Amino acid sequence: MAAQFTEQRDEIMARVEAVLAEGKLVGGPDIEILEQEIAEFCGVAHVVALNSGTDALALGMAALGIGEGDEVILPPNSFIASAAAVATIGAVPMFADVCDDQNIDPEKVEAAVTPRTKAIMPVHLTGRIADMAPLLDVTERHGLLVVEDASQSFGSRYEGRLAGSFGDVGCFSAHPLKNFNAVGDSGFLTTDDGEVAEKVAKMRNHGLVGKGLSESFGYVSRMDTLQAAILRYKLEVLPGVIERRRSYAALYREYLDPEHVFMAPERDVEFNTYHTFVIQVDCRDELKAHLEEQQIGSAIHYPLPLHLQPAASDFGHKAGDFPVTERQAERILSLPVHQTLGQDDVRRVAATVNSFFG
Ligand SMILES: *Cc1c(COP(=O)(O)O)cnc(C)c1O
Repeated sequence: MAAQFTEQRDEIMARVEAVLAEGKLVGGPDIEILEQEIAEFCGVAHVVALNSGTDALALGMAALGIGEGDEVILPPNSFIASAAAVATIGAVPMFADVCDDQNIDPEKVEAAVTPRTKAIMPVHLTGRIADMAPLLDVTERHGLLVVEDASQSFGSRYEGRLAGSFGDVGCFSAHPLKNFNAVGDSGFLTTDDGEVAEKVAKMRNHGLVGKGLSESFGYVSRMDTLQAAILRYKLEVLPGVIERRRSYAALYREYLDPEHVFMAPERDVEFNTYHTFVIQVDCRDELKAHLEEQQIGSAIHYPLPLHLQPAASDFGHKAGDFPVTERQAERILSLPVHQTLGQDDVRRVAATVNSFFG
């Protein structure tokens, strides 16, 4: 984060200065303009700026009428927020296992549908959009809502369409660790449904419809004006950020030894923005330690699947329920792919991985 700030310091500080000098710290034109700019970017009718991706999921589902006892099908390998958003609105997270590329398996989704299923939540993990064509086929046949957890995939495309434009709602995080990132918590929701957008906009601000007039009790889930002003700048530079990450991913694909390192191939239909570059290997923990010895950071996204989290214990899942996810949890490793790297860094990481396998 510090290296990013060094690169972007003048632009960011100019935005901060302008907002503070204007004195409009909550609400204001930066929020509305950012919403319009994101809507145009994603090819959707409405965007609602929020305080986090988690609230985009929870408020989006609530606005769609998902609640007490409704089942929502999602993959078991995501950030905890995907399942948390379902559970905190009183709905039931139901899991469907994943494919080699870590995204939800459309056939497993079909098998998980019950009379109580209300929606599916494809998580576009790692910057790659889930296989939406067969997923939309399932949701259309069963009359289900689609809630995209697109937190890791702003700007990603599938058959030419952008993340957030497939579902009834698209839910995004602009947390500092995402590709399109604020300097604190932020998120937003995309939708083509004007009523849903209006409901979420009300919920983010106490249900207020005028000064001192509240139509329904709501929450405080607004995006800070400071974050919106910074995100407007980040939107300008995003294509360059994505290009750099894609070029590093291409280098990894060129240099890493496919005999020992599995990298889910890119499909023709997809444009992957590489929120993370995840490899799958034997002896993952030993490789991670080997990289650490060479001062190379790596991470595991995510070490404990959602259905095995203590927080999910009420839902009665057990080890062995989702074998593909569980096996991947032992084999996945995210290599550095952030935009402040250089090509030589990427080559050194790849050489260090290869040397581990001899
Ligand atoms: C980051 C992330 C979220 C949550 O975003 P916050 O803005 O931190 O609330 C949800 N789902 C996935 C897949 C994420 O990566």
